[in-house]
Amino acid sequence: MVLALSTAGSQRPLKVYISVDMEGIAGVVTADQLGPTGFEYARAREFMTGEALAAIAGARDAGATQIVVSDSHGNGQNLLIDKFPPDVTIIRSWPRPLMMVQGIDSTFDAAVFIGYHASTTNPVGVRAHTISSANLAAVELNGVSMPEAGINAAIAGHFGVPVVAISGDNVAVSEAQALIGAMEGAVVKQAISFHAAATMTPEAAQQLVRQKVKAGVQRHASIRPYVVRAPVRLDLTFKNYTPSEMLSYLPIVQRTTSHAIRFNGRDILEVSRFLEFVNTYQPGMTP
Ligand SMILES: [Zn+2]
Repeated sequence: MVLALSTAGSQRPLKVYISVDMEGIAGVVTADQLGPTGFEYARAREFMTGEALAAIAGARDAGATQIVVSDSHGNGQNLLIDKFPPDVTIIRSWPRPLMMVQGIDSTFDAAVFIGYHASTTNPVGVRAHTISSANLAAVELNGVSMPEAGINAAIAGHFGVPVVAISGDNVAVSEAQALIGAMEGAVVKQAISFHAAATMTPEAAQQLVRQKVKAGVQRHASIRPYVVRAPVRLDLTFKNYTPSEMLSYLPIVQRTTSHAIRFNGRDILEVSRFLEFVNTYQPGMTP
């Protein structure tokens, strides 16, 4: 009995990675919340921070001892970092070779996605897009259409880390569960259209996120990592014509249609770096 108790109470570290986007946060519906020029952006940063803190609390309820949070929306500087507990590490700004899950590795036990949205090929979902709403019309890995949750789950899966919980609108949550597997889902709003939702209040959403993240982290050992088999074939469809034309000048890139290119990566990490390059590089970048 004493032995069993001491085993149960053992201090094995439990590391949780929390990737936070903004489109799937309760209350967020338009550009008015999503960027520094929006009239409600300052409030939306608080809502996003609140859901991230709720996820941390849920992970801790389930025994998490170490937490890394990535600010993975827009400029990557949305989370109010002074509101976070002092033992949490926060990943900020871009570019990052592993994009929305920068810093994840095989020492983590579980990954959690907060504030996520549906993919660009989904006909419903609030602010549905994949990586770039301005530039990309489709992203496929090995022939399977991907939301951001899928790409990020595949990077986590490369390191053997399962995604145990996701929050967002009903469309984002069910899309991710259908693709990735039976993770916990916190539905904080019901999508009505691209720019409308029936939303929970921030307080109610935070309670739900905390519950679901706790439940997910508690059963992390029984959730399978999502693995996209290497080598990984990336098919990217642009909204415009010129990106595919110019990228095909590179010998590592194949043009597949007027608007689409293919890149064959050794693994998902190589694909992630390629995606980050394609979506960030501009010749006039400074410094
Ligand atoms: Zn975003």
